[in-house]
Amino acid sequence: NNYVNILGVNFINTSFADMEQLLVNHLEKEEKTFVVTANPEIVMYAKDDEQYMEYVQSANYVVPDGNGILLAAKMMNQPLKERVTGYDLTIALLQKANEKGWNVYLLGGREEVNKRAADRMAKDFPSIHLVGRHDGYFDWDDTSLKEKISSLQPDLILVALGFPRQEKWIAENISSFSKGVFIGVGGSIDVIAG
Ligand code: UDP
Repeated sequence: NNYVNILGVNFINTSFADMEQLLVNHLEKEEKTFVVTANPEIVMYAKDDEQYMEYVQSANYVVPDGNGILLAAKMMNQPLKERVTGYDLTIALLQKANEKGWNVYLLGGREEVNKRAADRMAKDFPSIHLVGRHDGYFDWDDTSLKEKISSLQPDLILVALGFPRQEKWIAENISSFSKGVFIGVGGSIDVIAG
């Protein structure tokens, strides 16, 4: 693959469709995968926070979430093909999960937002196995939540804790899982909840 590095963050340069297919392949092969959907805010934050930069660099893919990133790449004369937003990627993967009957876990948001997003998913994607859900306001030092989630063997784990928390949570906990595609989806859970 072809990459474009913006201030230390290495963006994959693919079309949306190719990115979706890459992730579908990982889901089918049950290969653990960490995806960061990075906007300019995330890049600027990572530039100034070494620990966060390490989390972002530990991801398998960083995709350009928004036009600001495309503009920066263009100014560097290394244009990126297309925007790959967290929301669009989330919906595309939920559609695939619906076709394939994959296990999905929904982590994050306020309890009522999380619940409403789960209800919407059940309605719009009835063949998804929503194996569990939890709001995003839990005790970080309590490891029982990640143990619970990993025991449910989700294929797709949507982590909506906002940045930088969601990337930190994924980077610190992914080793406890045997499979799963992990995506920090930020405020997308609020949009799905409606
Ligand atoms: N969120 C959460 N736990 C937290 C902080 C935020 O679950 O400790 C949720 C919040 O309720 C919202 C989502 O993360 O649903 C996105 O939050 P925010 O808008 O702050 O992040 P951004 O969209 O800027 O990444």
